[in-house]
Amino acid sequence: MTSYDASPPGIGVPGALAHVIVDAEPDRLAHAWGKSFTDLAQAREGRADHAPDLVAYPADESDVVEVLAWASDAGVAVIPYGGGSSVVGGVTPDVGAEFAGTLSLDLQRLDGVLDVDPVSRAARIQAGILGPALADALRPHGLALRHYPQSYEFSSLGGWIATRSGGHYATGRTRIDDFVESVRVVSPAGAWETLRVPSSGAGPDPVRLALGNEGALGVITEAWVRLDPRPAFTAAATVHFDSLGEALGAVRALAQSDLAPSNLRLLDRAEAATSFVHDGSAEVLILGFESGDHPVEDRLAAGLECCADHAGQAQPRGEGAGSWRSAFLRMPYLRDALMDHAIVCETFETACTWDRAEGVVAAVRDAVLRALASEGLAPASVSFRFTHAYPDGVAPYVTVMARGRHGDLVAPWRAIKAAASDALVEAGATITHHHAVGRDHMPWYRQETPPWYAVSLAAARDALDPAGIMNPGVLIP
Ligand SMILES: Cc1cc2nc3c(=O)[nH]c(=O)nc-3n(C[C@H](O)[C@H](O)[C@H](O)COP(=O)(O)OP(=O)(O)OC[C@H]3O[C@@H](n4cnc5c(N)ncnc54)[C@H](O)[C@@H]3O)c2cc1C
Repeated sequence: MTSYDASPPGIGVPGALAHVIVDAEPDRLAHAWGKSFTDLAQAREGRADHAPDLVAYPADESDVVEVLAWASDAGVAVIPYGGGSSVVGGVTPDVGAEFAGTLSLDLQRLDGVLDVDPVSRAARIQAGILGPALADALRPHGLALRHYPQSYEFSSLGGWIATRSGGHYATGRTRIDDFVESVRVVSPAGAWETLRVPSSGAGPDPVRLALGNEGALGVITEAWVRLDPRPAFTAAATVHFDSLGEALGAVRALAQSDLAPSNLRLLDRAEAATSFVHDGSAEVLILGFESGDHPVEDRLAAGLECCADHAGQAQPRGEGAGSWRSAFLRMPYLRDALMDHAIVCETFETACTWDRAEGVVAAVRDAVLRALASEGLAPASVSFRFTHAYPDGVAPYVTVMARGRHGDLVAPWRAIKAAASDALVEAGATITHHHAVGRDHMPWYRQETPPWYAVSLAAARDALDPAGIMNPGVLIP
């Protein structure tokens, strides 16, 4: 069994907040890592280099206000923590030396569904609730938040909003953004809340200051989110293609049609094989439709016709879709297990316009293979799936697996990550479609955002968080 070593906390628990803040080692260790590759590698090596000095478990919003006020005065960096499933170093308390200490602010006790409005089909929900508890609380109302990221079981509503997560819908309402009606945020300067309306043209949307803020502008404490009835009608099929070009042509045609498939996941042949969906001799498209109020078989039939126009071969009903779903649910656990066997296993995701899609895929594959070869880690598997599709572009998702060396997994990972990220920027694709920026993506995020945008974001931070204690190093340099 690995034994962990965290240096003693550098600061003490403030007496007035002893009901909220703890400095016990198990709590500090539990918040020392997220789920980034370097986090997992460090955890396996028994290293807790960045264990927070303190952990706070606010029971209500006034606790959050008090913790932020104390931390601002004391110069303690605050790292909001939802489910801790960040894969980009977003919750890792690695903030540099200029702070008096670090505090992980765990929102797990803010986990209630406070209000359900069945007329407008929306609910006011606290940020710390995890996916399954949220679904359980809404089920008696016959409603659901139809947003299921792959990490749904161990990630929180606040984390989804703070990272602009991507859910199971492959087209249309792909992100949590589309479900957020209004938000409530506690920043060190004070609490703020946006107007609860279905839509507003009143200037730049204030909700957007919370969406994707990654804890750098404040703590999301609750949100009104849009709900749907649970789908009463579903229909799905798998389609095989002989080439990636034809398969991408079909995905583009479907995304540009008005059929609105809920599932439109394309696996290249390597990914189809590693997901045990197919033997690796064809590209595989999972096509699915759902509705709460009307049958969707006719939409599936039209979707399959569209695939046939691109040389897609529809498979007998049910084949492949079930194995894809179970591989999708298993994958979160598989990566951790593979690391125990010294396999460098990492995923990168991006989005680009359709005209660039095949070029981006080729550029990333080349860059990753070159980096692996230079690290002496060839042969390796580099596979692609396409998770979300839009009328104007697509979100490719890359999985890299290579046999590494025990105790030396981070250096090759860094080389692969840098090569893939440079290739993305070079090819005009984004550094992330839905995994957020965190600490890992900062150098490339800065390259893709206009300089004045970065200045404006820093000015917003200065107004909301004058002491600059909120998740330092994430989003704002
Ligand atoms: C196996 C696996 C599968 C994944 N699949 C997906 C996927 O399908 N789609 C997807 O989008 N992502 C996915 N992710 C990434 C991750 O789950 C998402 O980024 C998720 O939204 C993070 O939620 P969380 O509650 O775990 O947030 P955390 O990891 O705790 O935090 C993420 C970031 O948000 C900040 N934060 C958290 N809560 C708050 C709050 N209340 N207020 C302000 N800031 C806050 C944190 O400081 C941090 O910067 C996956 C991760 C893993 C490990």
